[in-house]
Amino acid sequence: MARYKDEQCRICRREGQKLFLKGSRCYTDKCSVSRRNYAPGQNGQKKKKLSEYGTQLREKQKTKSFYGVSEKQFRKYFDMASSMKGKTGEVLLEILESRLDNIVYRLGFGTSRAQSRMLVTHGNFEVNGQKVDIPSYLVKAGDVITVRESRRDNGIIKANIEANAARPIPTWLEKDNKNLSGKVIRLAAREDIDISVEEHLIVELYSK
Ligand code: SF4
Repeated sequence: MARYKDEQCRICRREGQKLFLKGSRCYTDKCSVSRRNYAPGQNGQKKKKLSEYGTQLREKQKTKSFYGVSEKQFRKYFDMASSMKGKTGEVLLEILESRLDNIVYRLGFGTSRAQSRMLVTHGNFEVNGQKVDIPSYLVKAGDVITVRESRRDNGIIKANIEANAARPIPTWLEKDNKNLSGKVIRLAAREDIDISVEEHLIVELYSK
């Protein structure tokens, strides 16, 4: 099974950038992209020229992997973004960024988006005082996300808070360590989002 052990790192290497899929290891020099920044496989070091379609597809796959969403969900967000004001690609990223699992990750309660999703599903968080266990829940400006009173002794969350203490919190969020909570001061704008992606290529792909 060793072949599959680094499956997440292989995704990053294929995309040629860190997608932060593995938690704390992503922030160390053990990161596979830092050590072997070329695509996995026998021919990984050979530069392949991608077609226009291939380039667009890679940008979409990279963004999906970064946020850990399925094709169906991703398409749904795209359709939602298309019907909203603003540049569709930018709005798409802003919607993805407002998912509750992403917020839990950004606040440092989870070490990766995948783990944060699991923590949300297990009912560890509330939004504005109400339990929310839906990772795709979209937060709004002013929302307060808190570790539920009954889950404050959760060993994983406690360890994550300690391990992620040095990870910067985005400026659009405010963390309250004492109350194990965080507030969405405003929704993220494109310039706040740290994924290196040309989102217009995703729009072009879906517009075919
Ligand atoms: Fe692996 Fe994380 Fe580095 Fe990606 S960012 S290659 S998941 S360690």
